[in-house]
Amino acid sequence: MRVVTDRNEMARLCREALRPLGLVPTMGALHGGHLALVAQARRENATLAATIFVNPAQFGPHEDLAGYPRDLERDLALLRSQGVDLVYVPPVEEVYPPGFDTWVEVGRLAARLEGARRPGHFRGVATVVTKLLALVRPDRAYFGQKDAQQTLVVRQLVRDLDIGVVVVVVPTVRDPDGLALSSRNAYLTTEQRRAAPVVYRALCRAEQLWRRGEREGERLRREVRLALQGERLVEEIDYVSVADAATLEELDRVAGPALVSLAVKLGRPHLIDNITLG
Ligand code: AMP
Repeated sequence: MRVVTDRNEMARLCREALRPLGLVPTMGALHGGHLALVAQARRENATLAATIFVNPAQFGPHEDLAGYPRDLERDLALLRSQGVDLVYVPPVEEVYPPGFDTWVEVGRLAARLEGARRPGHFRGVATVVTKLLALVRPDRAYFGQKDAQQTLVVRQLVRDLDIGVVVVVVPTVRDPDGLALSSRNAYLTTEQRRAAPVVYRALCRAEQLWRRGEREGERLRREVRLALQGERLVEEIDYVSVADAATLEELDRVAGPALVSLAVKLGRPHLIDNITLG
């Protein structure tokens, strides 16, 4: 496994790599969710590249950039054990050198949900993903369904900017009690961790009602909210959404595929999760 910090060297190694070349972008603090992306990408490509970069551009001024969990040695050992060929770990100045002044802005899709909760977040995501795709030029790039809106934003920018890459979305990996794996779960106290599965339970409540024939968006949203409010450690419900799975427009009635998604503040972190209906 080659660990690369220099972008010219990364570009050269990717140019010379056996095809197909797969890319798994991450912010490190790796867990089983990341490893599911890596495992699938390993099976589907001759060469596998991963990146570890905590992207300052996708953090708001009051978010957890400085405190974001980091453990490079452990991450590299995990990636090595999964058979990754190339890992790009750029310093911030390598990605955003002095004078950097071009941004990728995805429109309507990026304004909703996480985009409304975290202004500028998807501008940072879209910019860094575009840069990584331009540098690595992979045949396939892998993203987790855990960040459903991010997968839609990436698909949109790949389409709009004529980037010839196949975007592969990998199902959410959960702990046995339903909590979606996330680097930010490390912030939870024991008590908060015990309460956190309420997030997935609330989503499952919507699915249960939908299976019984409930199609009214507002009723599904209300039931998810009620389930969340039943847990006193949920300090704040940022949003509960039942939206068109392609456009993220809120639905009055569920007719086709719908994304049920939510964000809540539980202790220090905001937890996000989603499921798809239909
Ligand atoms: P991050 O390091 O949080 O930027 O995540 C890197 C990639 O891993 C993103 O595409 C995430 O959607 C994906 N990911 C994170 N958590 C999970 C999970 N629990 N299941 C599947 N994919 C995940």
